[in-house]
Amino acid sequence: MKVASLIDDLSACRDCVQCGRCSSGCPVAFESPQTPRKVLRLLQIGRVEAAVHSPFLWFCATCQTCTVRCPRGVDVAGIMLALRRRGYRKEEKELSFYRNFLRIVEKKRRVSELRLGFKMAVGKLPLHPWEDAVLLFKLWRRGKIG
Ligand code: SF4
Ligand code: SF4
Repeated sequence: MKVASLIDDLSACRDCVQCGRCSSGCPVAFESPQTPRKVLRLLQIGRVEAAVHSPFLWFCATCQTCTVRCPRGVDVAGIMLALRRRGYRKEEKELSFYRNFLRIVEKKRRVSELRLGFKMAVGKLPLHPWEDAVLLFKLWRRGKIG
């Protein structure tokens, strides 16, 4: 089964009958209090954020044993990877402001709002950097940024 998006993953989770065959064959399930079966259960009950932040995801070795063992044809390994990607993307987005801020301070020994604003706007490409550019321009004209 090809996992294209989290929506597909969630629909795939509905097929899971919680038999536990995935977890019993998983070589790293003992490493974490959560197991592939438990992660799937979180998705089934709509606790997507909890699943995305499950520490088990980072133990998964993508060996595919769970997917092969599942009697319901659920691509468990694909779901683990998709959740990992989703969590990473979210974290990256949240951290980009702080990373840019620290890089500028490290380099210039002070914060430059103009540079920070520019970096954040460029990071949004190809979405809507113009809104930020207009805001920065207004702030600059009023002497609010240096
Ligand atoms: S083996 Fe398949 S059906 Fe059984 S718990 Fe795992 S995902 Fe669900
Ligand atoms: S792919 Fe990941 S979750 Fe599945 S059996 Fe292998 S290590 Fe466990």
